[in-house]
Amino acid sequence: MRRPWLHQPWCGRQGAPHAACLLTLDRIELSPSGLWLIVQLHQARDVPALLTLTTERAGRQQIIPVDIRHAPRLARAVDKAVRLVFDDPFARE
Ligand SMILES: [Zn+2]
Repeated sequence: MRRPWLHQPWCGRQGAPHAACLLTLDRIELSPSGLWLIVQLHQARDVPALLTLTTERAGRQQIIPVDIRHAPRLARAVDKAVRLVFDDPFARE
């Protein structure tokens, strides 16, 4: 008998039965023309967590799956860009 699925503490679907935990971390409007970026964390039973970066425009989605093991590197790259642009006093207007 399979053990019952235990939700991850961060699961955004508590209270509803599901095969994989899901949390929407952010929905970012990239352009006023209706292009969105959706950042989500997924966790199914017995497999590594998955980060997805989804672009959505006019109801059409393109999903980039990112193995959670690559997430720290991705976070460092984004953080570096943020620091270079926003923390550089010469870059500020
Ligand atoms: Zn869950």
